[in-house]
Amino acid sequence: MDKIANLALSLKDELIKDRRYFHSHPETGWFTFFTTAVLAKRLSDLGYEISLGDKVVKADARLGLGSKEQCEKAIERAKKLLSPEEAKYLPYMKDGLTGLTAFIDTKRPGKFTAFRFDIDSVDVTESAEAAHRPCKEGFGSDIAGITHACGHDGHMAMGLALAKLIAKNLDDFNGKFKFIFQTAEEGTRGAVAMEAAGVLEGIEYLLGGHIGFQAETNGGIVCGTNKLLATSKFDVHITGRSAHAAGAPQEGANALLAAAQMALNMHGITRHAKGVTRINVGVLRAGEGRNVIAPNGYLACETRGEDTNLNEFMYKKCMDIVKGVSEIYGVDSKVVMTGGTSGANSDKEVTEIFYEAAKQSPFIDDDKIVKELDFGACEDFAHFMRALQDRGAKSGYMMIGTNLKAGHHNSKFDFDEECLVAGVDIYLRVAYKLNGAKK
Ligand SMILES: [Zn+2]
Ligand SMILES: [Zn+2]
Repeated sequence: MDKIANLALSLKDELIKDRRYFHSHPETGWFTFFTTAVLAKRLSDLGYEISLGDKVVKADARLGLGSKEQCEKAIERAKKLLSPEEAKYLPYMKDGLTGLTAFIDTKRPGKFTAFRFDIDSVDVTESAEAAHRPCKEGFGSDIAGITHACGHDGHMAMGLALAKLIAKNLDDFNGKFKFIFQTAEEGTRGAVAMEAAGVLEGIEYLLGGHIGFQAETNGGIVCGTNKLLATSKFDVHITGRSAHAAGAPQEGANALLAAAQMALNMHGITRHAKGVTRINVGVLRAGEGRNVIAPNGYLACETRGEDTNLNEFMYKKCMDIVKGVSEIYGVDSKVVMTGGTSGANSDKEVTEIFYEAAKQSPFIDDDKIVKELDFGACEDFAHFMRALQDRGAKSGYMMIGTNLKAGHHNSKFDFDEECLVAGVDIYLRVAYKLNGAKK
């Protein structure tokens, strides 16, 4: 055990306590008021310069926002949970400008390194079964319909621990550090609005990661994740014309048939030879009454592609279908974007740095180190990666192994908290490699 491993291990109890605290009070999407305020207070106490509200989120670049009522409800809930000292951060987040950044400068020349941790939870009700550990051990979700079923509670705990270890050992480092605590990762809605607000300005290295996914056991790691898929999420709202189904069907414009036709055609899009693509229409709702030509229709859709161009191909085909089918059925269709991200790969240089860290870490098993792997799914982090890589900066995404009780987004999702120490150890090693002051 070297110095870094001991530092990470020294915070084990705190990591578990923080993870469980966030787990018990989950929030989703843009309405992470409690979560952001808790993080802001903790990071401010550690000596970080906190940025909140419109300094970190461009209001009109947000996608998939949710209703005003949901927003008000979330603020009221947060007020009940927060101490007065934490609640003073709430006014900055008005209307759902949640998420934050925390910055610290060693005042010595060196690299500008950033870490991103996501903070939102998932729209699923947590299992209340006695065998589900959060329930059994008293840290289950305190609200129906929302739970940390992806592990972002663990990510926040790691982020706080890493921030603490860097701040307390600042003399060991050169350059600058920034922590991006991003909300609305689920549904790939948050990164675009944070990037638009300028949070990436000046960053030379951005590191990110996730617990679990393809790193399925304790002691495992994927050092460089590639092929984070590009995606577009969108709703189609169809307006037709009602009419008597027997007396005058010819006077109607059938939005139900249009919706069904669109769904079938979208799933039948000819695939691109250049790589993997996906399409899903996950929701179809239409109609008002048995004997009425349906005047309304709604589809919730998503496309994915191995890279941005392949996703664009799928999305454009969907738009052709919406336009063409609308014309056939004489209905009006409005497409509303609710989320999206580009595709991206980890930079080789960053993968090497994670790989070196993994080989040195006593919390990682040598035979469980996977140097590179294709993700084959979407992560909002890809938007940050892409944006930075386009500017010549470097970015990478790793996966820390943990034994999972159930898959991500499952109501019984739970992970082995041993992975938290391993994650902090790896991130801290990377911080020393990039910004360590040579003495
Ligand atoms: Zn997720
Ligand atoms: Zn996740």
